[in-house]
Amino acid sequence: MIYAFVCQGCGKSFDLRATMAERERGIETLCPHCGSKDTKQDFRGIGMIFGAGGRGSPPICGPGAGGGCC
Ligand SMILES: [Zn+2]
Repeated sequence: MIYAFVCQGCGKSFDLRATMAERERGIETLCPHCGSKDTKQDFRGIGMIFGAGGRGSPPICGPGAGGGCC
């Protein structure tokens, strides 16, 4: 499974591969952009990963981004 996360530190999203068991134990997520551990799973971003430009996409800004990153 690939899970999408969004960094609360820099507002960028990234994806992480993990098994169901790993997810249930709790995934240790580090932002690849700024190294922050302050990340949360981004359910909205799942569609983006399988579409074009899943990686290297611009920071998520706007309503529902969660936490007002901008
Ligand atoms: Zn970050």
